[in-house]
Amino acid sequence: MGRSLVRGGHVLTVDPQLGELPRADILIEDGTIVAVQPDISADAEIIDASGFIVIPGFVDTHRHTWEAAIRGCAPNATLDDYFVEVLDTFAPLYEPEDVYASNLAGALECVNAGITTLVDWSHINNTPEHPDAAIKALQETGIRAQYAYGSANTSLATYWFDSEIAIPGDDVRRVRETYFNSDNGLLTMALATRGTGWCKNDVVRSEWGLARELGIPITLHAGMGRMAGRFGMVNQLNDLGLLGPDTTYIHCCYFSDDEWRLVADTGGTVSIAPQVELQMGHGWAPVVKAREFGLRPSLSVDVVTTVPGDMFTQIRAAFGSERARVLSVFWERNVPAEGLLTAADMLEIATLNGAHVAGLEAKTGSITPGKRADLVLLDATAINMTPIHDAAAAATLCADVSNVDTVMVDGVVRKRGGKLLADAARAGALVEESRDRLLSRLREKQAQTAAA
Ligand SMILES: [Zn+2]
Repeated sequence: MGRSLVRGGHVLTVDPQLGELPRADILIEDGTIVAVQPDISADAEIIDASGFIVIPGFVDTHRHTWEAAIRGCAPNATLDDYFVEVLDTFAPLYEPEDVYASNLAGALECVNAGITTLVDWSHINNTPEHPDAAIKALQETGIRAQYAYGSANTSLATYWFDSEIAIPGDDVRRVRETYFNSDNGLLTMALATRGTGWCKNDVVRSEWGLARELGIPITLHAGMGRMAGRFGMVNQLNDLGLLGPDTTYIHCCYFSDDEWRLVADTGGTVSIAPQVELQMGHGWAPVVKAREFGLRPSLSVDVVTTVPGDMFTQIRAAFGSERARVLSVFWERNVPAEGLLTAADMLEIATLNGAHVAGLEAKTGSITPGKRADLVLLDATAINMTPIHDAAAAATLCADVSNVDTVMVDGVVRKRGGKLLADAARAGALVEESRDRLLSRLREKQAQTAAA
């Protein structure tokens, strides 16, 4: 791979020691960052970063990437509606080629938006060919990803309410052996579990046991809205003796303080999907609450059926809603506000905390010598960016996807000059064809139901 030098950028390292470097170079050797400082001279391929803000790639810690082909299909859905309109309507109709198309387009959408690491929460494994298709697409895009193997989704009642069907251990073992023999690649593996309330306790125990047998992390949705809030899932998992540091809890909007303490004390991690939570009624996005318990919350997109697929949206949703919520408490007491989230906090939450949650902090999440080079160059001269007063503010509050000029994953440039270096047109055509197939299968099914 050789050497490259990202030269003269305004570098927000998000590394606690290195901090902000208003004019610095980043030297990369064989995909690893080896130096971050001003005026490096090296025989290397030069990437001119003058006029750019350089940040670590964003980390999306939970996205159902298989939903790219049904983007925007449920704009007005609440969480309850989503179960019907997406999980009970489209998920059963997915064939492997639809998962491939969505994962290809969805992962390229991530790279285009500066998301260099993705946790692909893939609960669409209707046959063993489905995970194969999902992983093949992730591999082709060159994104860093944690593939979280989930259940089938052929019927809502069977898989999401007191389910008696565990994720098939044999196929999880097959996928692990086939694709994840080494921990050194771009792809790592997790188990996307449903948990107590969604499944019978025997199923919960067997899924947790499977993940721990294989030494792969666990990720689950918990504490949202009328659904899992009601289950008190963390308390229930605690009763089963299943809490542990290998587990990521998604949403967490309705955790009791006891549940927060249990998550923190057992070393769990947290993924918050603010736009989804606010818009679909999961509850307030609990970024501040998580921090109060000493946790390092991360951000996630969750579903492009209903919200935008970029991290700038997530940053703004969490920043706006959490400041509104905290400020209202202080105004009520008529005292000056304290402890508000800052723009710099949001950048750390969207990058370094994400790497922590995905178990990849040694590899990514900050611009630190020794880590892999996952970088984003934001065009600081664009009309919505210039002039720069505060680079962290520009990166979190001014920037949007149009400013993502260059994206490097693992030292490989995947977007340059605002253009993906991949066949985005093919991926777009594939999700359009997939949409057409899904809609025609849906019409067929509805006709059969009407005839019956
Ligand atoms: Zn989700």
